Amino acid sequence: MSREPTPDLSPVVSDEVKYTTCYMCACRCGIKVHVKDGQIRYIEGNRNHPVNKGVICGKGSSGIMQHYSPARLRKPLKRVGKRGEGEFVEIEWEEALSTATEWLAKIRATDPKKLAFFTGRDQSQSLTGWWAAQFGTPNFAAHGGFCSVNMAAAGLYTIGGSFWEFGEPDWDRSRYLMLFGVAEDHDSNPIKTGLGKMKARGAKVVSINPIRTGYSAVADEWLGIRPGTDGLFVMALIHELMHADQIDLDYLVRYTNAPWLVIDAPGTA
Ligand code: SF4
Repeated sequence: MSREPTPDLSPVVSDEVKYTTCYMCACRCGIKVHVKDGQIRYIEGNRNHPVNKGVICGKGSSGIMQHYSPARLRKPLKRVGKRGEGEFVEIEWEEALSTATEWLAKIRATDPKKLAFFTGRDQSQSLTGWWAAQFGTPNFAAHGGFCSVNMAAAGLYTIGGSFWEFGEPDWDRSRYLMLFGVAEDHDSNPIKTGLGKMKARGAKVVSINPIRTGYSAVADEWLGIRPGTDGLFVMALIHELMHADQIDLDYLVRYTNAPWLVIDAPGTA
């Protein structure tokens, strides 16, 4: 009888492995990037990273496509056509920086507050904010201020944690978890492993989402809410909790601005 072949399950595909974090969504899973002949060949999850413990999603492993995308910006672009025509040429950093310095010097010398400085989603907002403060303008913001930071602040104030890089729910002790419109393309590895933990110990997972895919498909209860009515639904829940006297008033007074939202003279506000 011939012996079974022994497949090599972990062939060496690289001559170097770089340790970094994935930036294909906001939770920053730890990854090992295999490089061969100076080219990325393969991305795998890092088992020793606390966020994902080796798990990697399809989006994360295809980060290689983003890295080598022909659409990726590699140098500053200078507009050469009329605004809106989409005509740009690549320039060197030196030219870009001297152009920016020339434009900004006039504003800084006269009224620095006229500069409104907005940056995209990045990991250096403390540096961009510091730069704006040095320039002399209070008018600066970044993507996170409009998107995830409000979610993070609310999560930290209420459940002591939040999603993505801001933390995570208490997967080990929560007995009831409600997911509102959570999309699978953000924070997917930590949520997947967290939901697995909750379901293994019998905790209840409720998903409020117009579609029943992903997390909604594995939830214990799915509420197929009509898009745009989440706020009404939450207000209805709060109404019922107040009606049933199930609100922790001491907590609200101590940790939130809820007391300031109460109108004690109806009709006068
Ligand atoms: S969940 Fe996926 S896309 Fe997001 S950081 Fe982790 S590996 Fe990357």
